[in-house]
Amino acid sequence: MSKESARETKAASEVDAVKDSAATPETAKPASSGAAAISGTSTNGDMFEDALRRLDTAAPYAKIDPEILETMRFAKSILQVSIPVRMDDGSLRIFQGYRVRYDDTRGPAKGGIRYHPDVNLSEVKALAFWMACKCAVVNIPFGGGKGGIIVDPHELSRAELERLSRGFIQRIAPFIGPDVDVPAPDVYTTPTIMAWMMDEYSNIVRKRTPAVITGKPIAVGGSLGRDDATGRGAYYCIKELQARRRWRPNSVRVAVQGFGNAGQHVARLLHNDGYRIVAVSDSRGGIYSRHAFDVPSLIKEKMNSGRLRPVYCEGDNCEEVEADRITNQQLLELDVDLLLPSALENQITRENADRIKAATIVELANGPTTTEADAILQKKGTLVVPDILANAGGVTVSYFEWVQNRAGLYWKEEEVHKRLHEIMSREFNIVYEFAEQHDIDMRTAAYAVALGRIGSAHQSTGTQEYFMGGR
Ligand code: NAD
Repeated sequence: MSKESARETKAASEVDAVKDSAATPETAKPASSGAAAISGTSTNGDMFEDALRRLDTAAPYAKIDPEILETMRFAKSILQVSIPVRMDDGSLRIFQGYRVRYDDTRGPAKGGIRYHPDVNLSEVKALAFWMACKCAVVNIPFGGGKGGIIVDPHELSRAELERLSRGFIQRIAPFIGPDVDVPAPDVYTTPTIMAWMMDEYSNIVRKRTPAVITGKPIAVGGSLGRDDATGRGAYYCIKELQARRRWRPNSVRVAVQGFGNAGQHVARLLHNDGYRIVAVSDSRGGIYSRHAFDVPSLIKEKMNSGRLRPVYCEGDNCEEVEADRITNQQLLELDVDLLLPSALENQITRENADRIKAATIVELANGPTTTEADAILQKKGTLVVPDILANAGGVTVSYFEWVQNRAGLYWKEEEVHKRLHEIMSREFNIVYEFAEQHDIDMRTAAYAVALGRIGSAHQSTGTQEYFMGGR
């Protein structure tokens, strides 16, 4: 199996309908017409500046003290490290890494570690800010953090990757810990890498410390139900929409961009409920069938061959079915009801937003829609369930992993699903109703809810108003 296909299928190993409703999938209206339209001003591609624009848009609805808002413009701490690694050929390479603790007022910082050649400080700060908002929007007791190393892990041997991962932990160990900052996997980091990191940290502090990191293999303290948590969390959001908008699953046409961990699981769960998954794609392109695909067959084929092929399987016998080959761009612009970007950031931009036909978009990927595209979608009346809410199932089950590690008591998978369902449904409805009440889009509402919660935590130790004799 190729490295890419191995990565894509690595986690494939990560739900009640209102079936009596008569309505066809309603042409979804946004929770509002969007009084808080986001300006289209450019930030010259600086990801952190772009992230702060979400803060500015949501702040008026969050009703937080101006000094707290000012505090939220800055990361609490930023650590840059260099990691010397002895390579297999005897040479020494120095890698650069970062760990940003954005805010830890609501609890220890939480956020993944990314291995990618394009990692840079602006990106890590933006991702850490998003994590603070994501943890707040689902109301789990964590702040936000993120880390990254500038590296293409595919160029390293496994032994080199282990030395790099352990070296990074040696550098950042004084700044992380179960009560301080709890990393996790992100792009190109795996459960095995988390196991190395947990092991290294445990050696440094001289005690077994599984709660220092989440996303570990089950055998060393990972949680059941983490694999499909992101897809499942989005699925629970979609079920709430279904109930509110009286969708009949078998007349909802769904397109899924990205058929990795997040995309496969959400497609599988929706297919089980009768939704029509008419298009899926991976990095090599997509497939479309107006008759809808048998999703378990697509997953089986992808697991076996690493390829996305339009097949129908009975047992081990898989036969190709009729379908059109499409590009990823074409997938985004298909005439479907529900679009699930589940691959990369910046997929829906000002170039294609006008051509998006789906009435509802649920963002499983992080940052698939640019701020410029957001404004266009709002004008068109597209309902967007934003990433910080829709893909928060992953960090929620990471929180469960941390809780179980600390308690030393492990839950059954059904327990994980039940608790995840409870949190996702409750928080989805809070955001949805906030959007309706204020006549704003769901993204602005999600940020406002998150900022309100972060603000309350800051407020509890007093602002200027308090110290000057006010409340
Ligand atoms: P993954 O690596 O398992 O899968 C990514 C999929 O996207 C693969 O099928 C890949 O082929 C496909 N892809 C890559 N480039 C593409 C392109 N140009 N067009 C279409 N498809 C392309 O990753 P994942 O864990 O499923 O993550 C997907 C997204 O979800 C990312 O944005 C990630 O940050 C976000 N996310 C994931 C989790 C999680 O727990 N897995 C949690 C929160 C957010």
